[in-house]
Amino acid sequence: MRLLIVEDNEELAELLAKGLKTAGYEADMLSTVEEARAVLSTTFYAAMILDLGLPDGDGLELLREIRQRDNPIPVLVLTARGGLTDRVHGLRSGADDYLVKPFALEELIARLEAQLRRPGQLLGSNLRIANLAFDTQNRQASIDDQPQVLSARETAVLELLMRSKGRVVSKKQVEDHIFGHSGEVASNAIEVYVHRLRKQLSERGARVQVHTIRGVGYLIAEEK
Ligand code: CA
Repeated sequence: MRLLIVEDNEELAELLAKGLKTAGYEADMLSTVEEARAVLSTTFYAAMILDLGLPDGDGLELLREIRQRDNPIPVLVLTARGGLTDRVHGLRSGADDYLVKPFALEELIARLEAQLRRPGQLLGSNLRIANLAFDTQNRQASIDDQPQVLSARETAVLELLMRSKGRVVSKKQVEDHIFGHSGEVASNAIEVYVHRLRKQLSERGARVQVHTIRGVGYLIAEEK
């Protein structure tokens, strides 16, 4: 699972990357808003750790921008600012969670893992493609505004696909999302869940298609 760290304090960024690696995550490190903006438009990350005070701008601006582009990546904000107003402001700009510096690495990893398991838990947002919607707060799918009952794993697959709309999700990402990075998974398990989800969506009249991009992964899109 690949994460993005945007933090201009090199020492802290390296400490985070090292700690995350020990916990089983690969992390790329960037130190400016501009670099992050460029990389986020082309690369899929499972989550982002974002410092607010960056040399070329405010992390919150970047956050607002990516949310405006409907990028639902879970974002954990790091802030040195102690004022409650700033924190609330940050969350409203689309952060999923925040930590005030200094913090313990264990805490960061725990918060991050909570976000990876249940993205959008704090912020909550309604993701939509055609007549299919997914509420990330209640983890509820609906078709034509009618709530749908799906199994826990179908829901997890759908959530990841919806949060990554417009981008291909690799089989490995689906696997990590459902089972965590330590799970033992049968080789065809992901295909089975995707197949079931596809069938459920089609039977219930969702005007979306879950495409299999051979050798790459899956992509959800409006039915053409
Ligand atoms: Ca900083």
